[in-house]
Amino acid sequence: MVTKGLKLRIYPNKQQRQQLAQNFGCTRFVWNQMLAMLNERHENSPQASFLTAYALNHLLPLLKKEHPFLKEAESTSLQVTNQHLIEAFHAFFRKEKGHPKFKAKHAFKQSYTSKFVNGNIQPVGDHGIRLPKLGILRFKAGQRIPETIKQVTLSRTPTGKYFAVLTVEGENQAFPKTCQTIGCDLGVADLLVGSVEDLRWPTTRFDQGLAHKLRIWQRKLARRQQLAKKAITWDRHLKVPVPRTMDHFKNVARARLQVARIQEKIANQRADKLHKLTTQLVKAYDRIALENLKTKNLLRNHTLARAIANQAWGELRRLLTYKCAWYGKELVLVNPYKTSQLCSTCGHDDGKKALAIREWTCPQCGTHHDRDVNAAKNIERLALVKQTVCGLGTSPG
Ligand SMILES: [Zn+2]
Repeated sequence: MVTKGLKLRIYPNKQQRQQLAQNFGCTRFVWNQMLAMLNERHENSPQASFLTAYALNHLLPLLKKEHPFLKEAESTSLQVTNQHLIEAFHAFFRKEKGHPKFKAKHAFKQSYTSKFVNGNIQPVGDHGIRLPKLGILRFKAGQRIPETIKQVTLSRTPTGKYFAVLTVEGENQAFPKTCQTIGCDLGVADLLVGSVEDLRWPTTRFDQGLAHKLRIWQRKLARRQQLAKKAITWDRHLKVPVPRTMDHFKNVARARLQVARIQEKIANQRADKLHKLTTQLVKAYDRIALENLKTKNLLRNHTLARAIANQAWGELRRLLTYKCAWYGKELVLVNPYKTSQLCSTCGHDDGKKALAIREWTCPQCGTHHDRDVNAAKNIERLALVKQTVCGLGTSPG
């Protein structure tokens, strides 16, 4: 059994939208209350052991008594909020993330998660799903919901779209075995160059098409925010200056929405491309080898092109990791040391090469190399050294 996320675009009616907004607010409220409590607790007694999500759940009835509006919220979503908060703290303790922050009212993305308990989440017909507190929600046709749903995360994007991400359990749907291995060299100009049959995926420079538009709107937004900050209105009764909040300015809100819309479009286009590429790889190859790029290196962005490539590499690896697990294939991460220097034919080390050198001829065996294809071949060879091709984790034969 494998768990998988299934994303559905949902279309809540007016009443459901109100309920969703209320629930987003409730989980945000619980997050902030619990966070404040944990911070205070730590200040007063730094030596006390850290609380568990279970302990926080025991505080929920008290909180509900004090703030009756919380009773309107879907109850498991408040427990999940506690769980997420504790997880955020553990990530902070492991130094993987910063200290958990308070959530602002106008958070960029609003969401909450409900757990499956006693059949509270059920598919209804072909286009409906029953959710706790909300009733039946319509979703886009053409997607089948599996029977076993573990939890559902409901969200509203800044552009006002609603999504439900279902965590479902299903049988492992393996793709047929092909006994093929591929090495992949990740680059800046070409996102991916394969070790076989001229497989070359150019990097799509999303910063050049839509992103030109994005930059214009981001600049507009920044300018309008600046103006809004300076502007002051006079309270007629108290005769004192009152600084206006950003939200008083409709044009700021409009620019913000425009930026969010373009960002969403770019993100969708990028995701679409990467999904196609990774599915193609997972279908055609049993073993896919990538350079094991350290996240630290990925974060060191020198140029915009590099930054874009880095983002794509990270996402590519994430998609391949779960698709390989899901479709019964193998992802091998190899040490990229010298993969661009060694001749993939004879193993001769030709030394470091400037990035501008795209082709070279091996002085030892005379093979003419494309720099990226040669690197991809070396990566493939390193992956093969690790195990036999068709063994795939089991003993060969
Ligand atoms: Zn050679």
